[in-house]
Amino acid sequence: MAKAKKYETVKELIFWSYANLAMAHTAVERNQEKYGTFNYVIRAKLFKGLKEETMNMRTIFDDEKIKLQTGQICNYCGSSEKLALDHIFAQKMGGKDAAENLIFACRSCNSSKGKKDLMEWMNIRGEFLPLMIIRRYLKLVFKYCSENDLLEKLVEEVKEMDLPFKIEFIPTNYPNPSKLKLNIENE
Ligand SMILES: [Zn+2]
Repeated sequence: MAKAKKYETVKELIFWSYANLAMAHTAVERNQEKYGTFNYVIRAKLFKGLKEETMNMRTIFDDEKIKLQTGQICNYCGSSEKLALDHIFAQKMGGKDAAENLIFACRSCNSSKGKKDLMEWMNIRGEFLPLMIIRRYLKLVFKYCSENDLLEKLVEEVKEMDLPFKIEFIPTNYPNPSKLKLNIENE
């Protein structure tokens, strides 16, 4: 059972990652060291609900509010030095110059990320980004796939395509809650 494949289509992969993110979110909020039954139940319910369309990924509006509350610090590392607007989907890869795709980042994170996919860059950094940033990213991926009829495609097919994100880096394994944070805090 543990090895059963949770997803085949793009939609299922995004939902699986989103359900894991929600599970992590609840555990971080409760200051848990590890995941427990309660968290796994949340993940299972949300994943099922998303697939059956009785639940949905909330709009990016909530995330825009969080962005305003976070204020002018680097959303990746918390620095308040040399800030610029970073395109979550890199402009060079076709990312839009729109509010939902823009967050503050310091010059160091901005140039380290470059035109890499955000989750690819997260892998290179070797440390999870704040969950609220990953959530925004997943919503952007979902929106893009929805607008471009990719949701029902197989993950394997989409891996070969030239897109503003790299589907193979979407996280499906979230670390223990003690290693995660919801939002970035000022250094
Ligand atoms: Zn930074």
